[in-house]
Amino acid sequence: MLGRTHVLAAGAAAVGLAAWRELGPQPALELAAAAMLAAKLPDLDRMLHDDPHHRGPIHSVAAGVLIVAAFWYFFPVLRGRDVPAVVAWGASLGYLSHLALDLCTPAGIPLLLRRGPHARLDLVATGSAVEHVFAAAVALAGIWLWLATWGVPYVTLPK
Ligand SMILES: [Zn+2]
Repeated sequence: MLGRTHVLAAGAAAVGLAAWRELGPQPALELAAAAMLAAKLPDLDRMLHDDPHHRGPIHSVAAGVLIVAAFWYFFPVLRGRDVPAVVAWGASLGYLSHLALDLCTPAGIPLLLRRGPHARLDLVATGSAVEHVFAAAVALAGIWLWLATWGVPYVTLPK
């Protein structure tokens, strides 16, 4: 999937999680920011390889488990520096949403290593019209859910 699709989907998923857990607008924003940033992390492996379609070890199912575990293992350190708990939730959500979306492409994601077995659902080709429609739909859904739940920050409409 394209980078912007990952960012939009992670943001919308974070807004959904925040609305479901009835968070206030500030933690919801922190959750969404962490998710949207972490949604780009698996594509860092593209910086290491020439092939732009390459999905390396940090795109793997194993990496997803290890990295989310690392987020939570190191979280007490961050908490000691006043990083809110929603950041660990958001980072986990963003990373796993990236892997889940790439799982839906024809190439899929490796279970462990690049040359090993892959998991794939082959539902949406990267860059296809279906992906663009999906990205637009999740973005609109996230914006609608935000406005329906928290309204426009710092703006109070007269009654
Ligand atoms: Zn990816």
